[in-house]
Amino acid sequence: MSDRSPMPPDAPAVSAAPPRTLVPGVHVIEDRRIPLVPNIGIVEGRDAVLVVDCGMGPVNGDTVLASARKIAGDRPLILTLTHFHPEHGFGAQAFKGHAHIFYNAGQRDELVSRGPGYLDMFRSFGPGVSAALDGVEIVMPDAVYDGPLHRIDLGGRVVELRTWGLAHTAADQIVWLPADRILFTGDLAEERIFPIFPWFPPDDAVLDAARWRSILTDLQVLDPAIVVPGHGSVGGAEILRAVAGYMDEVAQLVRDATSAGVAGTDLVARLAPVIRAAHPDWEAPEWIDFAIRYYAGQ
Ligand SMILES: [Zn+2]
Repeated sequence: MSDRSPMPPDAPAVSAAPPRTLVPGVHVIEDRRIPLVPNIGIVEGRDAVLVVDCGMGPVNGDTVLASARKIAGDRPLILTLTHFHPEHGFGAQAFKGHAHIFYNAGQRDELVSRGPGYLDMFRSFGPGVSAALDGVEIVMPDAVYDGPLHRIDLGGRVVELRTWGLAHTAADQIVWLPADRILFTGDLAEERIFPIFPWFPPDDAVLDAARWRSILTDLQVLDPAIVVPGHGSVGGAEILRAVAGYMDEVAQLVRDATSAGVAGTDLVARLAPVIRAAHPDWEAPEWIDFAIRYYAGQ
């Protein structure tokens, strides 16, 4: 822990209040619907406690570590990430030496190849975000796993870490608690927030929405009772259905408009208002244009 100076009011700050308990031993530090703050999981077993995501920057990382330590007591901590994006993982330095940091190999590789570029991009988002990233260091995991599934027995509670490869990022990971039927999705699902299509061609076009869509089907087959989205309010499987429906809707609208001869900037101008109007209570509409351009192959 450190005595870092507090962040300014407009910085994306993870709550230091006691987390919400979903079921005994499974807690969430809710994002309070603040942009660039993720939902963060704290999952207890008899022998160890797993933290899912850690917020952006060293101050947020300290906050999450303090909350997790309070719950864990003397039990060792494990930190894993849903994906490498800064608001989910760039607080990990606070955990170095205080937790076992454990990612999938693809995430580690993506953190190395794309982490510095994302850091520069996020620093350009304004003074609040920049302040949150002050003093940030990109730290490597202590260990990684290969393959689509890794089970951890925390002691009386098994968690499954699963990845399908390239989707929202190169190596998104969900965390699934089979006995509790609780699912942490990362940004594969957000709740009443337009899905983030990080589609910035030609420089950065690491996205596979077809696989992302099929993952959403696989996640519905798990039949989760509780879904903790990457951002937005905790709910049930309807969160997964809403994201899948949005993807189907945008893909279909783009197909129809393209076959009617609409192209280029006209496509976005024509479709974005339609998509916005279909989801009047969703936040972050700036991501609609990216989704349209992605499906149009632009
Ligand atoms: Zn993300």
